[in-house]
Amino acid sequence: MIDLTTPLRYVKGIGPRRSEALATEGLRTVEDLLFHLPFRYEDRSRFLPIASLLPGLRGTVRGRVVTAALRRTRRRGLSIFEALVEDDSGSIRVVFFNQPYLNRLLAPGREVILHGEATPARFGRRGLIMQSPQYEVLAREDDEAIHTGRVVPIYPRLPGLSSRAIRRIVHAALGELRASLPDPLPPGLAQARGFPPRRAALALAHFPPEDTDLAELQAGRSPAHRRLVFEEFFFLQLGFALARQRLESLPEEPGLRVDDPVRERLRAVLPFRLTAAQRRVLKEIAFDQMSPRPMSRLLQGDVGCGKTVIALLASLLAVENGHQAAFMAPTEILAEQHHRSFRRLLEGRGYPIALLTAGVKGAARRQVLQGLRAGTIPILVGTHALLEEEVRFRSLRLAVIDEQHRFGVAQRARLRGKGKRTDVLVMTATPIPRSLALTVYGDLTLSVIDELPPGRRPVKTVLRDERARPGVYRFLREQVAQGRQAYVVYPLVEESRDSELKAAVAMAGRLAREVFPDLRVGLLHGRLRPEEREAVMGDFAAGTIPVLVATTVIEVGIDVPNATVMVIEQAERFGLSQLHQLRGRVGRGSSESYCILMPGTRGTEESLRRLQIMCETNDGFIIARRDLEMRGPGEFLGTRQSGIPDLRVGDILRDLDILEDARREAFDLAARLATIPQRGDLVRHMERRWGGRLGMVQVG
Ligand code: ADP
Ligand code: MG
Repeated sequence: MIDLTTPLRYVKGIGPRRSEALATEGLRTVEDLLFHLPFRYEDRSRFLPIASLLPGLRGTVRGRVVTAALRRTRRRGLSIFEALVEDDSGSIRVVFFNQPYLNRLLAPGREVILHGEATPARFGRRGLIMQSPQYEVLAREDDEAIHTGRVVPIYPRLPGLSSRAIRRIVHAALGELRASLPDPLPPGLAQARGFPPRRAALALAHFPPEDTDLAELQAGRSPAHRRLVFEEFFFLQLGFALARQRLESLPEEPGLRVDDPVRERLRAVLPFRLTAAQRRVLKEIAFDQMSPRPMSRLLQGDVGCGKTVIALLASLLAVENGHQAAFMAPTEILAEQHHRSFRRLLEGRGYPIALLTAGVKGAARRQVLQGLRAGTIPILVGTHALLEEEVRFRSLRLAVIDEQHRFGVAQRARLRGKGKRTDVLVMTATPIPRSLALTVYGDLTLSVIDELPPGRRPVKTVLRDERARPGVYRFLREQVAQGRQAYVVYPLVEESRDSELKAAVAMAGRLAREVFPDLRVGLLHGRLRPEEREAVMGDFAAGTIPVLVATTVIEVGIDVPNATVMVIEQAERFGLSQLHQLRGRVGRGSSESYCILMPGTRGTEESLRRLQIMCETNDGFIIARRDLEMRGPGEFLGTRQSGIPDLRVGDILRDLDILEDARREAFDLAARLATIPQRGDLVRHMERRWGGRLGMVQVG
């Protein structure tokens, strides 16, 4: 008998070699294996007669290989494997490219199952073919109960293991698995939803019974699937709920006080009237700040909606009450810019403000650290250098994290730990769909700014190819002649790669010498020294540099309202959300603004279609959703260390309803936890599954 914690090498059919291969994919225990669910199912209780296949029809057939041959084309050394497969009704040719080993696998006489689309044969031949179908060779000794004669699971390949081998191993593991497994979900929850118990759910998700609804199964929405997804989300959300509870159980501290003089001082700083959405959100934040328990809030809103100023006002509220506020930005450039613009806004109003990044060294650094400890610096702006041990405050009351999803629960806790009672406000740079917000930021309460400042006009976005380049430059020149400024963005996928950086530098040089010899062309990239960067940004902000060539370092937060044109080179290399973020650098003033996407020569048809979405909408939430659908959550958030918990069965887009349901139940249960007899088991299970993840990612 085995149970879920048994290492895989003890499962029948998995030797040391296979268990090592599985471990490279993170599969170590029986549980890991059983949560590796099929990505598709095939109904092998009935096969289509080969004669009934039609062009364009996807289907599964079973037949015998009659002839097989491997050919190589003389040009380009392509290998083509072709076999004729026949059943009682007829035959079909199957064709594979560059898989010469099939010559041995799909040998004449073999019984095979093929799944694929039938298409008309080409090159003057008649009949139908299947090109590169999914295939499985049946063996004589095959146990019909596993591989055929039923709805069978098809798995994503694992190293050294075909879908068929995985099927056999999973079947063996389920056969040996203890009949009664502890079920971590509180009993009532599964029953109320008609979910099968855990063990049954695992068995059913791999080997569904005869009468299963195949469509539900294929969609990953059978009761067994939903049960496993619910469980996964439930414990993640329980982790978030408990994190919140820990905060709420801290000893009370007097909340901030807001009276008319304070309100007046805050208003005096503002160069404009807040939008209704900004006012609403500021009220939500201030309300938290005034309460006796610390705030944990996420501030969301589309690019340019004015999140920064809200965070600044919240900071001033803390400062007016005799405390300190810290503002943490994801890059040095952004920190420097916030520092500059805050200083401008706060000029002469008696709020000293300091900058702390890795670039601030020596005496200057010592001075900042000292001022923070003494409390003579009320507002600090910086990068994650703020998290360092030596950074201590006299009374840190508010920590604002302007982030790119890089910091997890643990980093937030670290920052919070720098004060006796620190409110935490996280701001996302990119709007993210609700489902993702709940998964990544489930411990935070949400505030949304859903309105742009008045007078904003959507950025006119167009797609232009190489032939249009002279026209694009003419347009830039016209805008500059009207006193506007332009960005030419040269996107680097990896800011640290020399070859990429060289290309950007070369391009800036060419623009300066050949295209705009009479204009000052600035260059901004992540490898400039802080002073150089400050100088370039300062001159661009002051309007003395009309054309700025920049790498993606300008992606987040750069704010120069007079810039009205952005040309994005090789735009297809970027995700939509990132492009939206970049585009958000223009259209910040009230003049008409333009974004010109110039795909590189290697842009594919599909990537052009993607870029077309940018031309159709300026709504960051719509773009985010499309981006998430197209690229999946990891890519979407941009870094591998994205802070997304790795879900084994749940799908953020598909399973939003289950996620919301599980979250409600988890928060409800957390509130009554003390009265629940099996609370110890619940918490242990949550920690085993998510404890490490809720700490989430490394900083950086
Ligand atoms: P984001 O939400 O992308 O961080 P910012 O805070 O950078 O947006 O604001 C974008 C621009 O809009 C800034 O130039 C800011 O000064 C300006 N802004 C913010 N709120 C308002 C407002 N209520 N009225 C006019 N301009 C505003
Ligand atoms: Mg911003």
